[in-house]
Amino acid sequence: MRVEATIDQAALAHNLAVARHRAAGSRVYAVVKADAYGHGLSNLGRAFDAADALAVACMDEAQEVREIMPERQVLVLEGVFSGAELSQARQRHFELVVHAPWQLRMLEKEGVEGIERVWLKFDTGMHRLGFPPAMASRLRERLGALGVARPGIMTHLACADEPERDETREQLQALDEIRVVFPDSPISSANSAGVLLHPSTHGDWVRPGLMLYGVSPLPGGDGEELGLRPAMTLSARLMAIQDVAGGGRVGYGATWQAPRDCRIGIVSIGYGDGYPWRDHGVGHVVIRGKQVPLAGRISMDMLGVDLTTLPESRAGDEVVLWGPELPVEQVARAVDTSPYELVCRVSRRVPRHSIELETPLTADVSA
Ligand SMILES: *Cc1c(COP(=O)(O)O)cnc(C)c1O
Repeated sequence: MRVEATIDQAALAHNLAVARHRAAGSRVYAVVKADAYGHGLSNLGRAFDAADALAVACMDEAQEVREIMPERQVLVLEGVFSGAELSQARQRHFELVVHAPWQLRMLEKEGVEGIERVWLKFDTGMHRLGFPPAMASRLRERLGALGVARPGIMTHLACADEPERDETREQLQALDEIRVVFPDSPISSANSAGVLLHPSTHGDWVRPGLMLYGVSPLPGGDGEELGLRPAMTLSARLMAIQDVAGGGRVGYGATWQAPRDCRIGIVSIGYGDGYPWRDHGVGHVVIRGKQVPLAGRISMDMLGVDLTTLPESRAGDEVVLWGPELPVEQVARAVDTSPYELVCRVSRRVPRHSIELETPLTADVSA
């Protein structure tokens, strides 16, 4: 195989167990938007069976989840974009977020019959989506008129990944004021970083995403330090080996120059597969268990590596771009992006396959 992404379902199930353990008093939406953060919905198998429900960004994703996992409850985090989507959501009994006046008007026009639960999203300081807290009483009346007596109350945390910031505490204070207006409503605010760092954010429902894939949402460090197991291994092949004399150049633009006589490997993956483009290859890959540095500009279908320190490597060797041997967090830091982006943008050209979960997970993560 030229390139592939291998998804370890036991790792996914383990990570969910970690999230459940961390937020032991809360129910869990396993967030599977963006095709399960690039891992592929159809590769999840039964790994997230222990989640209370799943969450996606939009209706198209919700429909896909319903086709693959017909029995799962699904929350649509951005809510609907049209009356047609609302009627689909009603037919399929999805849970919907309502975050803006135009969405609320749509619900008032079409009705909410069939919607499993309405979550009202409030903007407590991130200033991305949600109603202002001052509208809480008015919203309670309008939803009451629709027959929704106890909407879920949701907000999203802007800085949960940075423990020392004041914003999280301020956002929770704003949420407290809303809770006074909706005393019987379930509350949800925690993403992965909230689950891991801020027990005060857990509430009735947590919404972990990235951590379920074994990737750390925190700056610095990696998932393993948090007791997580990376679920995706992205691998390719060493497809050619070149001996390049000192001073010779490698790749488009001749941006890389051999500092000495070098052994250069050509690896069968490029930005067309979602590997991040850089003018000068930065960071490492793993071959035969050893890290070797990139060499030269990333091509669409290939990239170069310097094999000088790995004379035993051979054409055909497996090359790991990221996975348990090389944390995607480390790759993201090298290219100055986020691991969220790297896993999400593995392109359609890369076949995914999964290592199936043998027995339903009973792993004890408290140990
Ligand atoms: C994506 C998303 C999450 C999950 O965030 P992670 O940082 O991946 O855990 C939770 N809530 C909302 C509203 C989201 O959009």
